[in-house]
Amino acid sequence: MNKVRLSKSCVGKEEKEAVLKVLDHEFLGMGAEVQNFENEIKSYIGTDKEVICVNTGTSALHIALACLDIGLGDEVLVPSLTYVASYQAISATGAIPISVDVKEETLFMDIEDAKKRVTEKTKAIMPVHYASNSQEMLEINTFAQANNLRVIEDAAHSFGCKREGQIIGYEGDVICFSFDGIKNITSGEGGAVLSNDPTFIQRVKDARLLGVEKDTEKRYAGQRSWDFDVTHQGFRYHMSNIYAAIGSTQLKKIDVIAAKRQSIAKTYVTELRGVDGITLLDFDYENIVSHIFVLKAKNRDLLREHLLSHNIECGIHYKPNHMLSKYKSDYVLPITEKIYEEILTLPCQFDLSTEDQTRVINAIKDFYSAC
Ligand SMILES: *Cc1c(COP(=O)(O)O)cnc(C)c1O
Repeated sequence: MNKVRLSKSCVGKEEKEAVLKVLDHEFLGMGAEVQNFENEIKSYIGTDKEVICVNTGTSALHIALACLDIGLGDEVLVPSLTYVASYQAISATGAIPISVDVKEETLFMDIEDAKKRVTEKTKAIMPVHYASNSQEMLEINTFAQANNLRVIEDAAHSFGCKREGQIIGYEGDVICFSFDGIKNITSGEGGAVLSNDPTFIQRVKDARLLGVEKDTEKRYAGQRSWDFDVTHQGFRYHMSNIYAAIGSTQLKKIDVIAAKRQSIAKTYVTELRGVDGITLLDFDYENIVSHIFVLKAKNRDLLREHLLSHNIECGIHYKPNHMLSKYKSDYVLPITEKIYEEILTLPCQFDLSTEDQTRVINAIKDFYSAC
């Protein structure tokens, strides 16, 4: 029996041809391909926000925080249940990630718990679109406004998802996407920062190129800056033409990719809804494009072993960050700690076959009917 993989990169001959074109052109760094990709993202989302591409989703989060002048001694509210990238991006600025609990039904940041953690040092809040759901963003934005906090959305899981009938990215303060190898679309590695705050956007544009002022504008015109000024800390976080060519090719296929990921998720929902032992997350699967398919499972570790014995990979997203040595908190997060024992991620990737998904579903049903 072949191994059913949890996730994988899925690229075709179009992506390979796009990369070869860039290689043939011998302009590998940041140039016209990146500008194209940014414009394409903007028109796909249908937003008047600026889109700034960078080399990873983690750098998108880091550069966003840095360009909002969040730094030493500041506090940023963030759900503990996220990839360590969110935490590393915060601590890289010198700020302190303040762990917040999640809601049991959706595993989204619990706004009531966030309220308890606000101090005079709190500068920002970083909600995470966990498993692609961001239904609760409205209450986060309202809370942030009332407390004068900047909002940096970690939307690494939710490129191509909809809310209120519109593609994610159309509203909000600062939104960060990831295009790493296994995300909804990939640019090989990559990320993007979206905002319509013009001062902030100019800072991000400069900061991704070592803080060299107006270097983006020069490079898009195929030029370099020789006489320039630098006023802020910058990074080497710009996206390369190679990445952008892959991303732009993937974006052209997004409707097909999204439809497939949605159909995988909906099949899991239909098939597993009635299974005693399984609890599904309370998501609007009509509007979500699942990056990871997460559910809660009774006897999770035994189920996981059972699936592995059938050559089916599964995952646990994520080990809570407040349980890591670097980010240990001196308070408990009861829901996060409870659901950490229950969550399981099932295979979900563009080229998952119907047969392989059926194998996953049947293995789960067999496990619980034998319980
Ligand atoms: C993937 C991911 C990131 C970081 O993106 P990279 O492009 O891999 O650096 C950040 N947050 C979450 C929740 C992610 O899943």
